[in-house]
Amino acid sequence: MTTFYYPLNEEQKLILDTVKDFAENDIAPLLPEIDETNAYPWKIYERMGDLGLYHLMLPEELGGGGHGVTTALLIGEEVGKVSPSLGFAVPFSLDAPLNIALCYTKLKDKYFDEALKGKVPIAQAGTDPIGGYNYPEWPVAAVKDGDEWVLNGTRCFATFGAVAKIIVFMGRAEDGNFRYWYMDHTTPGIEVAKVEKKIGWKGQDTTVLNFKDVRVPADQELTFFPDPRDDDRAGIGFGYMGTVAAAVGGMQGVFEKTLEYVKARNTHGEPIGNMSVVGDKMARMATEIEACRCLFHNALRIYDADPMSVPRGLQNMLKAMTTQKFVDIAVQCTDLWGGLGIVEDTGISRYVRDAVNCLAPCRSTDAHYQQIASFLGLGVKYTLSD
Ligand SMILES: Cc1cc2nc3c(=O)[nH]c(=O)nc-3n(C[C@H](O)[C@H](O)[C@H](O)COP(=O)(O)OP(=O)(O)OC[C@H]3O[C@@H](n4cnc5c(N)ncnc54)[C@H](O)[C@@H]3O)c2cc1C
Repeated sequence: MTTFYYPLNEEQKLILDTVKDFAENDIAPLLPEIDETNAYPWKIYERMGDLGLYHLMLPEELGGGGHGVTTALLIGEEVGKVSPSLGFAVPFSLDAPLNIALCYTKLKDKYFDEALKGKVPIAQAGTDPIGGYNYPEWPVAAVKDGDEWVLNGTRCFATFGAVAKIIVFMGRAEDGNFRYWYMDHTTPGIEVAKVEKKIGWKGQDTTVLNFKDVRVPADQELTFFPDPRDDDRAGIGFGYMGTVAAAVGGMQGVFEKTLEYVKARNTHGEPIGNMSVVGDKMARMATEIEACRCLFHNALRIYDADPMSVPRGLQNMLKAMTTQKFVDIAVQCTDLWGGLGIVEDTGISRYVRDAVNCLAPCRSTDAHYQQIASFLGLGVKYTLSD
């Protein structure tokens, strides 16, 4: 099933062909090693630099190809077919040079050229253990001292925290507002307190970062999102949609491998795919995958027309539905592989692990449905809009 609901232009078709080739030939062979070591795959990001993918994402006024969020997410979907973990991480990585171009001059001078070569991971330290995603509960983390901010606190689940060259800290300032600050990872007072051992998403570290009296100049503050809740209203963002790209790509990847398998594996003298119960399962999964892709591509199409016209709740629906559906499809496919489903050599169990790992990041399923219920006008509490 390869229908594209999103209207690709010729350049995007070429890019996605290149990415497909890159995913199958450069990424897939490295996956067993990444599973084993969990090490950040520098080679993969540097290869993306060689392919010119970072340049393509930059706006034309910065000398780039003028592609943005939409192309990056389609790339994520393509990569996600082979590795859902990288399907999430790659779109984030593609955004790094633009982020660096927008940030504090000294960091730009130091890192911009290297970022175009895929050598500058950025970590977003935005989850306070107190209150989790519920920002209003967070304690004050930033106090102004002359021309500097002094940051304190712990941030959990920060992706790339152990390898990042630039860290973005999100916190509540003493005036009650939420702000972001960019800083070099070498800034005194930042400590990688823990690298989590987690079920899937290998090759991207998930860390606990401590910030102790970290001093950053006032001009390293970002003011794009003075209130983090605005993030939820701005339509498609890398956060939620990165997990959606990973999930939509991942469900296609595991399905395609399983379709080949049920055609090739014989029992009772014929392929198991000929058994009506198996055929029925495959047909249902194909239908559900098409529905998820259709919703995803439709959201991208609306976003391209006008980012602020994405209907409220659409990205919540996408995140909640596609990630849960990915878990469901990955488990059903694993079952169809019998014993080989859980054997690491086939790579099928990787989809199950990565699917489960798609649930929590960028807010877990219930929080999204709670949000949707509030958009429906129901009197539910504890949404980001409260
Ligand atoms: C692999 C991974 C990578 C991550 N990367 C980053 C990162 O780079 N930067 C970053 O800042 N954070 C990151 N996170 C953090 C992530 O955003 C949070 O884990 C996520 O938002 C869920 O928050 P929580 O873990 O505190 O769960 P909780 O908020 O404790 O939620 C647990 C459960 O409580 C219920 N619940 C909680 N709130 C609500 C609500 N409002 N409505 C209804 N039910 C609710 C739900 O059943 C939910 O599943 C990452 C997490 C993971 C797992």
